[in-house]
Amino acid sequence: MKKNPAEQQSRDRMEPGALTIEGFLGTDDRPLADIIAADTAEVEAAGLTIEELGAFLEGLHKTADAGWEGRVPACNGKITVRSDETLGQISCPFTSCGDHCHKAVIGVKDAAGNDLLEFTPLDAHLIRKHGFFQGKGSPYRIGPKKLIAFYRFCKG
Ligand SMILES: [Zn+2]
Repeated sequence: MKKNPAEQQSRDRMEPGALTIEGFLGTDDRPLADIIAADTAEVEAAGLTIEELGAFLEGLHKTADAGWEGRVPACNGKITVRSDETLGQISCPFTSCGDHCHKAVIGVKDAAGNDLLEFTPLDAHLIRKHGFFQGKGSPYRIGPKKLIAFYRFCKG
């Protein structure tokens, strides 16, 4: 697949040390369009949409924000969420986007207090707006399989 200049610019911003220390791509050499297409296909094969999963994470972020760094129950008490904010914002790595997200980590635990998932507001944005779950091997990738299982656990 031929790389276009916009894709190359976005890709450069995803390299380690550009916007974040670890970057967004891990060990994934595939073109961004291929990464996105493969993950989108997996979500759709499960009968869900990128929009549903991204909106779900954004909703959890809003719920967590309301707790002012305390732990807040969500999804009928099946989980609790807590947001740890750091000062500042981070730009979306997609150059055509222009959005910024607050720097924060939202930690999700089950009712027994076991860690289930951590995500950032940027992760939720990347999934919802770009269908981008990050490259394979990225420490912050939450792949479709894991996210779908989490979504079903919360909604089921
Ligand atoms: Zn964006």
